[in-house]
Amino acid sequence: TRDLKDADSALQAAVDEEFSRQDNQIELIASENIVSKAVMQAQGTVLTNKYAEGYPGRRYYGGCEYVDKAEALAIERARELFGCDYVNVQPHSGAQANGAVMLALLQPGDTILGMSLDAGGHLTHGARPALSGKWFNAVQYGVSPDTQRIDYDAVEKLALEHKPKLIIAGGSAIPRQLDFARFRTIADKVGAYLMVDMAHIAGLVATGQHPDPLPHAHVVTTTTHKTLRGPRGGMILSNDAEIGKKINSAVFPGLQGGPLMHVIAAKAVAFGEALQPEFKAYIERVVDNARVLAEVMVERGCDIVTGGTDTHLMLVDLRPKGLKGNQVEEALERAGITCNKNGIPFDPEKPMVTSGIRLGTPAGTTRGFGADEFRQIGNLINDVLDGLVERPEGNPDVEARVRADVEALCQRFPLYR
Ligand code: PLP
Repeated sequence: TRDLKDADSALQAAVDEEFSRQDNQIELIASENIVSKAVMQAQGTVLTNKYAEGYPGRRYYGGCEYVDKAEALAIERARELFGCDYVNVQPHSGAQANGAVMLALLQPGDTILGMSLDAGGHLTHGARPALSGKWFNAVQYGVSPDTQRIDYDAVEKLALEHKPKLIIAGGSAIPRQLDFARFRTIADKVGAYLMVDMAHIAGLVATGQHPDPLPHAHVVTTTTHKTLRGPRGGMILSNDAEIGKKINSAVFPGLQGGPLMHVIAAKAVAFGEALQPEFKAYIERVVDNARVLAEVMVERGCDIVTGGTDTHLMLVDLRPKGLKGNQVEEALERAGITCNKNGIPFDPEKPMVTSGIRLGTPAGTTRGFGADEFRQIGNLINDVLDGLVERPEGNPDVEARVRADVEALCQRFPLYR
């Protein structure tokens, strides 16, 4: 019955420090967001105590009456949000959701075709060090050197040559809209399943700011914690009842044991929020803010991969300034701006160095930043970059001045108050 602060002061201190870090820096990591107080409260409930292997109405444990209600709410709301028949809200994460689809539809050794990590794909789409790359014959597509966008003719050529059983569309660093109809045409030509991993763009899909993959994909996976602004977790959607049955068995008992009922409760709350008109307006601001930030980056002398963005994220090519991704990530962090180094297509640098950074607007937009603030943030970022051009090992004067401006901005838009 003791509060955390009394029961475990060391852990409470770490939480307080993390809160203060989040409150006093500008979060530009494209895959992060800031959940509502209601989502966080749902996750911190007694539902964490409950085992509920199975699915609502068909559990392997007693006492599941009320957690069934929570899971049914999450399923119902997700179906309404994405207009689909089948949803599984149990995957513990995006990687688990993708793993469950592979377990449901593939045999070890089958061929899969996904986007390569260095072109913007995800580890779970067939990268060598991941299970998807070790247990399957993973063929990878990239982007065109001319447009830096997906070359659909090249994807089709690879599909015809390798005859994959599964084609994966989606990724972690794709700034432009995807053509799901074209992916499906390619999949149909070779008799492959099409899986769309909409983890990054789920919030945009839910609000009509990105074309909907569900009419085209056999199965759609997502995380719930990026633009969708829910708790960390995964989800699988489909309009095919037969595939749905296979996925249910793959998630449990195939891949996972007991579902995280407190997280599922928080997913239900987040989906309820995403159904409100305010969420649509939020996502519109996320996309507008990304455009503004990209414009400032270009005005101040950086390149943007593909020349801009249609989504919540952009890839900044730092080569016009002669800077590297790792050096910039560290300098920005010293100045109170958090982002990640990211390879750009055909990057000459190693993955731990890179020529780029990835910037996203979901978290900043949640705390209230609009176009004016993102214009200011773009200028602050470029002040740090220009400071590094002068002094590549770090420019304490510039970084301290930017840090002060960042703190002033954060104080105008405090978290959870
Ligand atoms: N799929 C995509 C496209 C992602 O960007 C990510 C996470 O970054 C994942 C899957 C994996 O999600 P998680 O980190 O929840 O396992």
